Amino acid sequence: MKELWSDIPTNGDSMLLAVIGDPIRHSKSPAMHNAALAALGIEGEYWPLHVVRDDLGHAINQIKKLGFRGINVTIPHKIEVMAYLDIIDDSAHIIGAVNTIVNNNGVLTGYNTDGIGYVRSLKDEAMADLCGKRIMVLGAGGAARGIIHALSQEDPETLIIANRSEDKAIQMENEWKSLVSIRGISMDKVSSYLPDMDVIINTTSVGMYPHISAVPIDPDGIPSGIVVSDLIYNPLNTELLKRSQDRGCIIHGGLGMFVNQGAYALEYWTGVPAPVEVMRQAVLDSLQS
Ligand code: NAP
Repeated sequence: MKELWSDIPTNGDSMLLAVIGDPIRHSKSPAMHNAALAALGIEGEYWPLHVVRDDLGHAINQIKKLGFRGINVTIPHKIEVMAYLDIIDDSAHIIGAVNTIVNNNGVLTGYNTDGIGYVRSLKDEAMADLCGKRIMVLGAGGAARGIIHALSQEDPETLIIANRSEDKAIQMENEWKSLVSIRGISMDKVSSYLPDMDVIINTTSVGMYPHISAVPIDPDGIPSGIVVSDLIYNPLNTELLKRSQDRGCIIHGGLGMFVNQGAYALEYWTGVPAPVEVMRQAVLDSLQS
């Protein structure tokens, strides 16, 4: 893995892309985007760059100096990076986080493709029309913010945000209530809302590798036949999804979100449709290796 600025070629001919974060070694983005560039016949390379908090400003300068076309931003920089950008897209501004940056001759524009990537995947794979649906989002962290914004554009009947720290769920209710019917609750109130839900979305990290037997809520309370979705893609099929499938639910995992957020980002950088199936296969291969 290349992590040093000195490794980056500066011949100017190929499209330079990267993901910055800390940690970064686990990232599946380089495998996904390098496969996409090859499939599109675009000369270029997507680099994993290990950037710690104190080096963020230096990293942004290097991105400009070396002529990167675009970067993805991951934990822990999605909020702090906004201070270094020239333009912030309206939805990224409302969400309060950026995961994709486009460099137009030194002018940096920030976007957030996480939420729209997730909703595209949910609609393609599990529920084509979210209009009028009652949706419960478990968790109120960074990923939940993008998802709530994208869901609010789909005209659901209501969004229930349930979080371990109730204050964060209520804060979200206050922040978004002008855009959508939304209610913030604590996790211990979930069971009384579950019977009315059409969709449940886990945005917490509960159930993620290596704690793969953990579930964010008691699956026995999930109504049979509804859609249950989990942002986690390692494992691809979480315990929540397995137990929901046993209850006759339609299940939806986090791989499609990951692929689609990358596809939207690649489309911003290249201006051409992303080879989504190639990208999905590259992530699957990378998860299995
Ligand atoms: P985050 O900002 O750190 O938020 C984590 C959320 O999980 C918070 O709501 C937190 O509740 C909750 N949580 C953590 N541990 C918990 C526990 N033991 N019990 C109950 N709730 C708990 O993280 P994030 O960036 O939003 O990411 C959340 C998940 O989404 C991760 O699993 C990540 O891998 C996944 N994700 C997937 C994709 C994709 O492309 N598929 C993209 C982004 C994120 P508190 O507020 O109470 O701490």
